[in-house]
Amino acid sequence: MFRTEKLTDMENRIKTQKTVNKSFVLEGTGIHTGQKCRMEIHPAPVGTGIVFLKNGVEIKAGVENVVSCTRCTTIGKDGVVVNTIEHLLSACHAFGIDNLKVEASGDEMPIYDGSALPFAKALQDAGISCQGIEKQIAEIRESFFVKDGDSMVLGMPADNFSAACTTDYNHPFAGVQSAFFGDNPDDYIKNVAPARTFGFYEEVKALIERSLALGGSLDNALIIKQDGYMNPPRFPDEIVRHKLLDLIGDLALANACIKGHVYAVKPSHKLNVKFVETMLSKCSL
Ligand SMILES: [Zn+2]
Repeated sequence: MFRTEKLTDMENRIKTQKTVNKSFVLEGTGIHTGQKCRMEIHPAPVGTGIVFLKNGVEIKAGVENVVSCTRCTTIGKDGVVVNTIEHLLSACHAFGIDNLKVEASGDEMPIYDGSALPFAKALQDAGISCQGIEKQIAEIRESFFVKDGDSMVLGMPADNFSAACTTDYNHPFAGVQSAFFGDNPDDYIKNVAPARTFGFYEEVKALIERSLALGGSLDNALIIKQDGYMNPPRFPDEIVRHKLLDLIGDLALANACIKGHVYAVKPSHKLNVKFVETMLSKCSL
C-alpha cells in the first residue's frame, strides 16, 4: 500500500519507527462522557501502530476504524469504542511515535487541560526510542483537496511533512487566524501542544443542556463569549493552534509518515479523516 524509500531527503523527520521506552498511565475525565478513565500506555513492536485494547477488543488507531467524527475522533470495533483519541495521537505524530499499546478502562481519553501538553510531557518522560526499521511513507505526489461546504483540506508535494491551518468563525474574538507546523517537536511543545480545545459559550451551554460535554469546564476548555473570553487564552490565536493540533492528530490515522504539506481551511475531524482516506487511496496508486 505504501511506497518505502530511502529517507535521505527528509532532514527534519525522525526516520525510523519509534515507541516509548517504558509503560506509563494516563488517568482523568473524558470531556464528552464525563467518565473517569485510566489508560495504560505500553511500548509496542515495529509495525503495531497505535492500538487500543478494551474489553478484549483490539482497535488500531487508523482511518479504517473511525466510527464517529462528531465533536471528537472516535474509533471502534465490535461495539467497543474509544473517544477523543486525537490529542494523544497529535503528540505521538509530533514526536514521530508509531507504535504503542493503550489498555483502556473507559470509553474516552482523559481531557486534562484540553490541550495535548500533558500527553506530550508524559511521552517525553517515558522516553522515546528508535526501533531501527524505517517508517512507512505516504508521499503526496500531486496536489489534491477534499471539501465540505466552505471547509477544505489540501495536500501538496513537499520534501518534508508540514501542516498549516486557517480558521474563521466570523466572531470578534475568533476571526481569521492561521498557524503553521514545520514538523519540529520543540516547536510543537512550545506553540501547538499547549493550545486548548475551545467552545463558544452559547454552543457549550446547549451541549450541556443536551447532556453532552459532561466533563467540560473552564479548567479544560477556552470558552469564548461575544464580549470576550471567559478564561484567559494561552495565545492570542489559541483557536487555530488547537485546530492545527487536532489536524496533526487526525493525520496520524494514516499510520504513515506523510511526505508533503497539508493545509486545512476551517477543518473538522470529519474532513480530516476524509483527507487521510483520499491521501491513502492516492498513495496506493
Ligand atoms: Zn481537540
